Amino acid sequence: MKTINDFNFKNKKALIRVDFNVPLNDDFEVTDSSRIEAAKPTIIKVLEDGGSCVLMSHLGRPKGKEEKYSLQNIKSKVREVLGVQVHFVDDCIGDKSTEAVAKLQSGEILLLENLRFYKEEIRGNRDFAKKLSKLGDIYVNDAFGMAHRAHASTAIIADFFPSKKYFGMLLASEIVSIGKVLNNSVKPVTAIIGGAKVSSKITILLNILDKIDNLIICGGMAFTFVKALGGSIGNSLIEEDKLVEANTILEKAKLKKVTIHLPIDTVVADSLSENAITRIEDTDSISEGWMGLDVGPASNDSFTKVITQSKTILWNGPAGVFEIPIFAQGTMAIGNAIVKATKNGAFSLVGGGDTVAALKKFGLTDEISHVSTGGGALLEMLEGKTLPGIKAIEG
Ligand code: AMP
Repeated sequence: MKTINDFNFKNKKALIRVDFNVPLNDDFEVTDSSRIEAAKPTIIKVLEDGGSCVLMSHLGRPKGKEEKYSLQNIKSKVREVLGVQVHFVDDCIGDKSTEAVAKLQSGEILLLENLRFYKEEIRGNRDFAKKLSKLGDIYVNDAFGMAHRAHASTAIIADFFPSKKYFGMLLASEIVSIGKVLNNSVKPVTAIIGGAKVSSKITILLNILDKIDNLIICGGMAFTFVKALGGSIGNSLIEEDKLVEANTILEKAKLKKVTIHLPIDTVVADSLSENAITRIEDTDSISEGWMGLDVGPASNDSFTKVITQSKTILWNGPAGVFEIPIFAQGTMAIGNAIVKATKNGAFSLVGGGDTVAALKKFGLTDEISHVSTGGGALLEMLEGKTLPGIKAIEG
């Protein structure tokens, strides 16, 4: 893998695709700068080599030029996080951008305007990619969150840098970490897959069965499996059209000697609200009118045991409706068990928007081996796909 550590950027202008798609409040201020922080090692490496950085990113889903989505809004936050003066140009191609790049000195940063102000970005337009490519000597991709998209700045542009394209440190660390889980991983390997929808996780489940020893299925999606096994699940989440696939996964797991762990008990509630009446029931015999919204205490104990005995752990998808405190215990127990296993030397990878939000909420983020910055990109890698943004650098 060719990373920026293989190159000295002295007097070179690095054109870096970052993922600065950060959340903003109503005053257009950045409310979470994690994505900027994640790109910092790459940017600092280029500057310390004596090079300069031209940063390109998208922000939101603008329909044409909308002030709300201007990267001008995040300029001061980028400067604060990086601790370096940041220049901004209110375009990402054209004369203004070319002039701003020409003026850029070693040790300086130029932030381009939102790539998605041009529809050509998402369309992967070659001409647009060519125009972007004029703005740097070397192309670096550090936007893992966008690596599953063949957009102009994430994939197509690489064609214009046949021998001058590199993985940034963030993207490289995501590839290495996912590799540690999926290839030659230290056994026992445990995957914890939860969340609401089975349909969005079927391909992942089928792909990882070859690579794991234990599969913990939790969250709303567990009920489709429980029903497929003949259980009664009351009013819990169900995807009736996925019962066959659920059975296929269970059969394949048996063939491949993967132990499936479904919750044996469940926190059921009379409504999905903070004031709901709750009780604990066996997962395969939930009363009519009640819905399972978190895993129960006996399941928490058995999941914790499996997780703390594992040497490689993958977690995607919460175990319950953790956004509501009375249904957060199962998700918290999984987070704590992973932290414990990690302290004992296991490698842990946690990813997905909701799962990472849960980790943050419980203050566990810093105690995980690798917290992925990709949502869709991570899921597609776990599905076994080659991502266009990665292929473009390798090719
Ligand atoms: P996903 O995007 O499929 O990973 O689903 C994440 C969402 O699943 C979170 O917002 C959780 O609140 C929700 N979730 C987890 N467990 C349950 C459950 N038992 N019933 C309904 N929703 C759930």
